[in-house]
Amino acid sequence: MPSPTRGPSPEALAASQDAPAALAASQPAPTALAAHSREVAEVLQELGVDPQVGLTAARVEALAEVHGPNELEERAGRSVFAILWEQLTATMVLILVGAGVLSLFLSKWSEAGAIFAIVVLFALLGFVQEYRAERAMAALKKLAVPSVRVRRDGKMLDVPARSLVPGDVVLLEAGNVVPADCRLFEVASLRVQEAALTGESEAVEKGQGAVPGTDVSVGDRVNMAYMGTVVTYGRGAGVVVATGMRTELGHVATLLQRVADETTPLQKRLDRVGKGLAVVGVGIAALVALFGVLRGESLADMFLVAVSVAVAIVPEGLPAVVTITLALGARRMLARQALIRRLPAVETLGSVSVICSDKTGTLTQNRMTVTAAALPGGRVELSGGEPPAGELAASLPLLFAAGALASDAELGEGGQSAVGDPTEGALVVAAAVHGWPKKELEVALPRVDELPFDSVRKRMTTVHAVHGDIPGLTERPPFVAFTKGSLDGLLDASTHAFLGGVKVPLDGALRARLEAHNAQLASEGKRVLGVAFRPLEARPERVTPELETGLVLIGMLGMIDPPRPEVKLAVATCRRAGIRPIMITGDHPLTALAIARELGIATPETTTAVTGSELEHMEGERLREIVETTAVFARVSPEHKLRIVEALQAKGHVVAMTGDGVNDAPALKKADIGVAMGITGTDVTKEAGDVVLQDDNFATIVAAVEEGRVIFDNIKKFVKFSIAGNLGKVAVMILAPVLALLLPKSPLGELVVPLLPLQLLWLNLLTDGLLGVGLGVDPAERRVMRRAPIATSAGIFSDGALGDVIRTGLVIGTVALVVGLVHFQQGNPDWQTMMFTTLAFAQVFQAVAVRSTKDSVFLRGVPHNGTLLGLCGLVVALQLSAVYVPAIGGFLGAEPLQAADLFVCFAASALVLVFSELEKLWHRRREGDDDGVPASSIEPATAR
Ligand code: ATP
Repeated sequence: MPSPTRGPSPEALAASQDAPAALAASQPAPTALAAHSREVAEVLQELGVDPQVGLTAARVEALAEVHGPNELEERAGRSVFAILWEQLTATMVLILVGAGVLSLFLSKWSEAGAIFAIVVLFALLGFVQEYRAERAMAALKKLAVPSVRVRRDGKMLDVPARSLVPGDVVLLEAGNVVPADCRLFEVASLRVQEAALTGESEAVEKGQGAVPGTDVSVGDRVNMAYMGTVVTYGRGAGVVVATGMRTELGHVATLLQRVADETTPLQKRLDRVGKGLAVVGVGIAALVALFGVLRGESLADMFLVAVSVAVAIVPEGLPAVVTITLALGARRMLARQALIRRLPAVETLGSVSVICSDKTGTLTQNRMTVTAAALPGGRVELSGGEPPAGELAASLPLLFAAGALASDAELGEGGQSAVGDPTEGALVVAAAVHGWPKKELEVALPRVDELPFDSVRKRMTTVHAVHGDIPGLTERPPFVAFTKGSLDGLLDASTHAFLGGVKVPLDGALRARLEAHNAQLASEGKRVLGVAFRPLEARPERVTPELETGLVLIGMLGMIDPPRPEVKLAVATCRRAGIRPIMITGDHPLTALAIARELGIATPETTTAVTGSELEHMEGERLREIVETTAVFARVSPEHKLRIVEALQAKGHVVAMTGDGVNDAPALKKADIGVAMGITGTDVTKEAGDVVLQDDNFATIVAAVEEGRVIFDNIKKFVKFSIAGNLGKVAVMILAPVLALLLPKSPLGELVVPLLPLQLLWLNLLTDGLLGVGLGVDPAERRVMRRAPIATSAGIFSDGALGDVIRTGLVIGTVALVVGLVHFQQGNPDWQTMMFTTLAFAQVFQAVAVRSTKDSVFLRGVPHNGTLLGLCGLVVALQLSAVYVPAIGGFLGAEPLQAADLFVCFAASALVLVFSELEKLWHRRREGDDDGVPASSIEPATAR
C-alpha cells in the first residue's frame, strides 16, 4: 500500500496529468528511498507492476511525462555564443583587431574598414566550421546511448536506456551497465562491480531479500543494482525505482556514456606549428617593417605592412579546418558503420598496423547451424545423412535435450530460428528439429538454478528438477545438471561417458576417440560444443564450479558458422595496406585455423595456432617474437588478449583490438584502438571502446582505417597547401624590395612595399578560408590502402613534406616575383596588381596539385572533388572582381589589367601545377606504385 509519508504513488502522479511535469519530476520516486529495506513484493505492489508482464506502453508514457527521461544532466555542448566568443578571441583575430584600431587612430579608414571586415569574415568562417563540427559530434553522442532489455506489455524488448521509468522491469546480464537504480527480484549468480559508486573494484554478489535499515551504505544494499555499475557475472531482473538525476549516481553526478571530445595529438601538434609560425611571422614582419622604415617609409604605413605580413604567415584557417575535417571524418566513418567515441581515434586509425579480431560474428556471420553430432559410438551427419540407428540413436535424444536445456536461447516463431545467443540458438533449433522442443522439455525438467557461461571456463551448467522422463535416460534422479561447453574442458571434468544409453567409465581409448571426433569436426571449421550431465540426489545449496565435476559426457555437436563474404577482400586490403590481421578466438585451434585459412588470415600451409595456455608460459622476448609471427591465437581468455596487445605494442605496433565480452574491456582500453561490437557487444566493452562497430563486421574496421588515413592525408594536404602558399607570399614581401635594389632603376622609382596590406589579407581569405575547406573534404587517394600505415611518430612534415612545402613555396614566390619585378622594371604601373593576381591564381593551381602525392591530377585515378572545384571557380571569380570591379579594386589598391597582362598572370601561375606534375613524375619513376608496404605484410603470417 502506498504510505502517505512516502508521497503519492506513481499511479497517482501519472493520473494527475495536469500537474506540472517539471515540478513532479523534481520529487524523488517514492520507492527509491527505502527500496532495499522492504520486501520485493511490497515494492512491486507500490509501483503497481507485475514482474512477469512489466508496465504497459500507456503507463510508460504517463510516467515518462512525470519523471522525464532517464538521463544524467550532461555538461551541455558549447553554446553558439561560446563558439563565437572563442573565434573572436583567437590570437590572430586579436592581432587583427589591434591593427584595425591602430589604423583608425592613424586615420587609415579603408584599411581599418577592411581589417574589420576580415575579422568578421574569419570569425564567421571559423564559427561556421566549429559549429558544424560541434553538431556532427553531438549527433554521434546521441547514437552512443545504450539500449536496455526490459519487459513491457508481457514482451521482452530492447529500448533506449533513456526511456526507462520507475516501475520498468529490467533484465540484466553480464556485461550490462545497469541503466537505472533497480530493486532486484531475480538473481542467478548475479555479481555487480560498483566502483563507479563505492570505489570498490571487487564485484558484489547480489541477492533479493530485504536489507533492513535506512542507514545501510550503498555498498551493502545487496538487493539493489545501481545505475552506472557493471554486471560482471550472471543474470538478474529488477524493477526500476529511480531514474536520471534521482539515482544514486545522479547524486554524485558522475557522467556516463559520454563521447569524449578531446584534443587529438595531431591537433596539439598543429597547434604548436601554428604558434611557431606566429613567432616566425612576427619576426619577419618586424624585419620587413624595419627595412621599410630605414628606406624612409612612414612608421605608420610600415606597421600595417608588418601586421599584414604576420597575418599572411600564420595559417588562420588551420584549427577550424582540422576540427571540421576530424568531425566530418567521424561522420563519414559512421556512414560506414563505425561509430567513433573518441575523436583522437579518427587519427590513430590511420596508423593502425595490426588488427586483432575475434572470430565469431566479426569474421564469421554468427549464424550457427548444427550439422553434425559425435558420440562415443560414432559420428552422425544431421543434415541429410542416414538416420542413425542402434547405439547412436539411443544417445542422441539426451544429447539434444541436454544441449537445449542448458541454453538460455528460446525457440523463435516457426521453430526454425531462435532468439538469443546464436550458439545456443543453434542447439535449441537442432533439438526442436529432432523432436525435442525446449518448451516441452522444460515442463518435465524445469530449471531451478544455473552456473552462467564465462569465457574462462568456457562452459555453462544448469540444474533441473526432474518432474518427468529425461529423454534417453532410464534413471530418474530428483535433480539433474546439464553442462555444455568446450570439449577439451569437459573431457577433464568427466569421469564417465554415455555409450548406448548407459554410463561407462571414460577410459583412455574412449577419450582418444572423442578427441579425434573433436579434432575432425574442428578441422572442418565447425564450432564444437560438448554436452554432459550429472544426476543429483539433492538440489545444490549453492552452485559453484564444483558442480562441474564427475560429469557423464554424452557427446558433442558440431555447428557451422560461415565466414562473412566481404571479409576475404578486407583481409587482402589489409595486407596491401601493410596491416597484419590476427585472429584471436576462444574457439578450438583447428576451427580457428580452418576459418583463418579460408579468409587468408593464415597461409594454406599454416598448421598450428598458438593457444592461450601456451601463451601463459611465454614471457618477454619469446612472447614478443611469437606475436610477431602468429596469425591465429585460439582458446584464449580475455586476459591473454591483454598480453597479446602489450607484446605487439612493445614491438612498436599500433594495435586495433576487437572485443565483445565483459572481460574484454581491459584489452580494449590497452589497445591503441579498442573496437567494440555494436550488436553482440556488452555495454562495458562499448564504454571501453574507441570505436563501436554498428555491424560487428571486420570489413568495417578496415573501412574505418581507410577513412582515418584519408583524414590524416587531408589535414596534411591543407597544412602543406597553407604553409607553402604563405611562404610564397613572405618570399615576395622580403625579396621583392631587395631584388629591386639589385636591378637597374625602374622608371617607376623605388620598390618598397610589394603587396599592400589589404592585398595580403585578401589572399589569405581566399586561400586558407575558401580553398582550405575544399581540401578538408577531399576523397581518398587511389593509393590510400596501398601504402604502409602512417607512423605514429610521423608529424605533418614527415616523409619529405617539409621539402615539398619549401620547394612549392619558393616556386610560388619566384613566379610572382618574376612577374612583378619584370613589369616593375619595364615601368608597367600594373606590376603590383599582376603580382597580386599571380599569387591568387598560383594558389588555385596549388590547391589542385596538392590533392595527390604521386598521381598526376590529370589522371582519372584522382577522384573528383566538386567542392574544391567550385571553390577554385569562386576564388578566380573573386580575384577577377578584385581587379575589374572598380569599387573592390579601389579598395584593395588593384588596377584593371590588360588582357595580355592577365594572361601572363595566368600562364605564370600555371607553372606551379607544371612544376608539381614534374615532381610527381619523378617520384613515380623513383618509387613505383606501392609506398613502402613491408613485404612481410603482403603474405599471411605463417603461424610459427
Ligand atoms: P571469439 O568471438 O573471440 O572469436 P568465441 O565467441 O568463439 O570467440 P567464446 O564465446 O569465449 O569465444 O567461446 C569460447 C568457447 O566457449 C567456444 O569455443 C565454446 O566451446 C564455448 N562456448 C561458447 N559459447 C558457449 C555457451 N553459450 N555455452 C557454453 N559454452 C560455450
